[in-house]
Amino acid sequence: MIPDVHLQAPLGQDRVLLHTCCAPCSSAIVECLVRNGITPVIFYSNDNIYPREEFDKRQGECLRYARSLGLDVVEDPYDHERWLPLAAGLEDAPERGARCLECFRYRLLRAARYASAHGFKVLTTTLASSRWKSLDQINEAGLWACSQVEGVTWWDRNWRKDGLQERRREIIKEMDFYNQTWCGCEFSLANKPKDI
Ligand code: SF4
Repeated sequence: MIPDVHLQAPLGQDRVLLHTCCAPCSSAIVECLVRNGITPVIFYSNDNIYPREEFDKRQGECLRYARSLGLDVVEDPYDHERWLPLAAGLEDAPERGARCLECFRYRLLRAARYASAHGFKVLTTTLASSRWKSLDQINEAGLWACSQVEGVTWWDRNWRKDGLQERRREIIKEMDFYNQTWCGCEFSLANKPKDI
């Protein structure tokens, strides 16, 4: 069932940059934005994902979903080597630990820079839709990233509530999305949960 959620983006914006980690996490958020007259431009930037084949698979599913809705996607070129240094010394940190905060800061800074350079006034992310992620860490990283650039406001909405988790599960089935079983980096691959 499609949840009856009424959204208003910060500053009354009808277009936002949506940092997107994967199709399952974006599913209900994208639908909810569109139904509220807010156009998300998908910013696919995930240098954390390992290996390359996995990045391609997740990006491909995001593109498939965006195209089905007629949405634009910005594809940030993949460079895992650029991401790896932030994990140095934090390889054994658990999920929701220090490595993940650095990973969120890295990805959301890339998104904030793109937003600022391309006239987006509002930025948010699909990262917060997964119950395996720390909402506090994501908001801390998003606020910090937006503070590093000019003219971009962080939208700190909790995308897990108001029936969006249930709708996420429905869309995953309807679209037959590939649904990965680890967060993304090689360190999470070595210790993957049953679902994310
Ligand atoms: S577990 Fe996920 S959020 Fe944490 S560092 Fe790895 S890819 Fe990033």
